[in-house]
Amino acid sequence: MSDSTSCDPYDDPFHPPTIPTMVNCLHCGEQYDSYLIEWRIIHNRDGAELGFWCCPTPGCDGLGFGCDILPADPEWRDERGGWCDDDDADWYDYDDDDDADAADLDPGGDIEFDDDVPF
Ligand SMILES: [Zn+2]
Repeated sequence: MSDSTSCDPYDDPFHPPTIPTMVNCLHCGEQYDSYLIEWRIIHNRDGAELGFWCCPTPGCDGLGFGCDILPADPEWRDERGGWCDDDDADWYDYDDDDDADAADLDPGGDIEFDDDVPF
């Protein structure tokens, strides 16, 4: 049987980072090493296989590194300096030049509020 879904764990954009890091699960609140995130395959009603990276805590339905499972360190970046290593996701990458660009967009504090807005 063939279908359009992928069951290759490393094709999944939510796979754990190559270099393990401490993570927190938004669903169960547990903290653990990212290498413990489990690849699980379920079958949908049509019998097709669907794979997901899952929180290893029994009974927890947290899914996906970067989705329900986040790095404990808010400054964490992967080995490429971004949030994931998907080759198609260059927009995830961070570099120092972005900080300079963000500063250029700062209006400088002279923000005027429209009095017609009711809140
Ligand atoms: Zn969890």
